[in-house]
Amino acid sequence: MWTVDENGYYGQFGGAYIPEMLYSNVENLRNNYLKIINEESFKNEFDSLLKDYVGRPTPLYPAGRLSEKYGAQIFLKREDLCHTGAHKVNNTIGQILLAERLGKKRIIAETGAGQHGVATATVCALKNLECIVYMGEKDIARQAPNVARMKMLGAKVIPAISGSKTLKDATNEAIRDWINNPEDTYYLIGSVVGPHPYPDMVARFQSVISSEMRNQLKEKTGNELPQYVIACVGGGSNAAGAFYHFLEDESVKLIAVEAAGLGIDSGMSAATTQLGSVGILHGSKSYVMQTDDGQVVEPHSISAGLDYPGIGPMHANLFASKRAGFMNATDEESLSAAFELAKLEGIIPALESAHALAALRKIKFEESDVVVVNLSGRGDKDMDTYMKKLIS
Ligand SMILES: *Cc1c(COP(=O)(O)O)cnc(C)c1O
Repeated sequence: MWTVDENGYYGQFGGAYIPEMLYSNVENLRNNYLKIINEESFKNEFDSLLKDYVGRPTPLYPAGRLSEKYGAQIFLKREDLCHTGAHKVNNTIGQILLAERLGKKRIIAETGAGQHGVATATVCALKNLECIVYMGEKDIARQAPNVARMKMLGAKVIPAISGSKTLKDATNEAIRDWINNPEDTYYLIGSVVGPHPYPDMVARFQSVISSEMRNQLKEKTGNELPQYVIACVGGGSNAAGAFYHFLEDESVKLIAVEAAGLGIDSGMSAATTQLGSVGILHGSKSYVMQTDDGQVVEPHSISAGLDYPGIGPMHANLFASKRAGFMNATDEESLSAAFELAKLEGIIPALESAHALAALRKIKFEESDVVVVNLSGRGDKDMDTYMKKLIS
């Protein structure tokens, strides 16, 4: 009941609000994606790449010292140990196999911080497919290491030089490219956003996370169901993957953590459910941070991966129906949670994942509660930010 309906909606959210000229591309995907991803040969190749290339299953680590500190049985789902350092590659592997089976030769993507660009360039190298990544000119300047990674992996990085020169403008460029190249090009979206069927497709590829969690919890605690699953939300793909196989188990509390930036009321945040209203963003109906006349507001978060003015339609529905609890963490709270994890467990998390960790101090647990935090990525990419904090 929480997954997509046959019309591409989650409650009132989702759908495909796209220009006429994209209609046939999206329709082609919609008509074929389920058939292809359910084929035996697809499943076999997806599973073996996740195992041998990505390094799955990722561990479910019982975090002893963190558990002691917060008075609950806390487990970390170690997506930070995936090849490329985060969960994003689960999705790009799935979509590249789909693109290949659709006979596409050219892959386009947009990226903000560069993480999705790197995950896309990675799988294009793997499959010897041409890769074009659109990225705002401003983002190219501030994300130099990821730009270098994409180039080393063989991708072409094209600057978006219009508007604010950030993610929104890169998205416009990618869509324009797709309209001009409908036959040979596949548009690879990086989160549970975009027109139907993208949110459903990406959630299915990421759902391997909760499928593994259930098996691992059974083995470690004797019960497949925890009391809590906690994940950070930018567009919402790691949270969708972590929640997916628990959606129908109403006893499991699903907690989504958004970026509060400098504070919800500061005008510098990315807490979409707290500040947004229903609107259309990136081809689907959801909550959007926008002005009264529908202009999208520039979001802010210390973590580039959560710096997004919307939220996927599945999460919009989980929020509106209260199936998931939505919390938020500020830049400072997340930095502090990252340093705490490093000291207590010897794990340096991505700043995005640190938002999920920051929720631990805001929830009143029972000693017996089993809590899974989805550690979506590792902190190597955030060392500049962490070093500034160490010095100050
Ligand atoms: C991109 C990213 C996120 C945010 O994206 P979602 O689609 O919300 O998961 C979270 N964590 C890490 C490590 C990321 O790279």
